[in-house]
Amino acid sequence: MAALREAMHPTRIPLSECPAAATLALAAEIPLKEFARKHSLLPFHRTVSPKDYDVDHGDPTGLYLIEHFGMRVWRQSMAMFCPECVAGDMESSKFAYWRRSHQLPGIPWCTEHGCQLANSTIGKKAFDDVPFPDLPAHYGYSEQEFIDVSLNPVIQRYADIANAFLNSERPTPLIHATFRIAEQAKKLQIRVGARGQKPTLTEKVLEQVPRNWIKTLYPDIENRVPGQFFNPIDNITTGLVADQGYALALAVLFDSSTEALNYWYADNDGLPLERKVQRSFGRDYWNSNTMFKLYVEHKGNHTSIGQALSIDPSYVRTELTAAGLPALGLVDISATAQAILAYQAGMPLEAACDSSGASRSEVEKLIRGGISKFSTALKKMSQH
Ligand SMILES: [Zn+2]
Repeated sequence: MAALREAMHPTRIPLSECPAAATLALAAEIPLKEFARKHSLLPFHRTVSPKDYDVDHGDPTGLYLIEHFGMRVWRQSMAMFCPECVAGDMESSKFAYWRRSHQLPGIPWCTEHGCQLANSTIGKKAFDDVPFPDLPAHYGYSEQEFIDVSLNPVIQRYADIANAFLNSERPTPLIHATFRIAEQAKKLQIRVGARGQKPTLTEKVLEQVPRNWIKTLYPDIENRVPGQFFNPIDNITTGLVADQGYALALAVLFDSSTEALNYWYADNDGLPLERKVQRSFGRDYWNSNTMFKLYVEHKGNHTSIGQALSIDPSYVRTELTAAGLPALGLVDISATAQAILAYQAGMPLEAACDSSGASRSEVEKLIRGGISKFSTALKKMSQH
């Protein structure tokens, strides 16, 4: 990589300005966006995102995202290839290449040939060169184990869903992902909180897939405490989990991958969210820390919070205003925040507005609804 970087950037610009992904795209003569989207695992690794979810996969304005997610290797020890693909490549173009779909966790077969993928014996160091016929390799499964894994319906759905994620254009907002998975789990009587008697998602997974397969995704699963949340999988209904968790959950929660993907990618309007919202998001929810954080993250924009939650923004407005978090929308946050914080520190309102250039009527309106929680939110926003 260092040598390639040197070759592509002979003028020695700072390293931070020529990250690995950009260097590779340049070398391959592919636009960076196309490189990230079509030739890296970024869309899979960025399936769900707690922030920046309006940045499309590979958008050059999110260069740090491309570097962070595009260059990630799932497991240090793996460089997977299909011997039949390598043979086919050699025939058609005299050299073979690594395929990203072969590097997805938990899919040990070639989607084109159906045969078991081989793992290079030197691990990811093999990526420094193109694959070639007779590249030293080993296989993860015996013939019988491979048949059991590749014919398993959950694993087949998992593979379809993971490949669909790999071809997606943008991530799903975390809050939205959490909500959808939890709603479907509840429907199937699966436990969505750490405490309770109902079976967990992990238990549903273990009932349906071979142990040796699930252990490749979650090596710690054998150490879980029966009846308790196994966090890497079960936390999906409360927060962010690793990439493969979303494909796995959907594969278990639906009988067909098409149905799962339709649910996952459905328009917000297409979901009967209003009724569920009232059930799931009670007063505690609007007063919760999660909501407070969301308010800060969206800079008090009720419309954008509504979009992130797939809830009607006017409902969001009513509930958040009642919870002491008024709409800021188009308000100049830095000026308004300064004025409110100065006022709270004891400066007369008029002086506070004048010194920061904030609109007095706007500030008055905002402090009318009670101020301590709101000013904490403003403080946090102005730190960003
Ligand atoms: Zn193949």
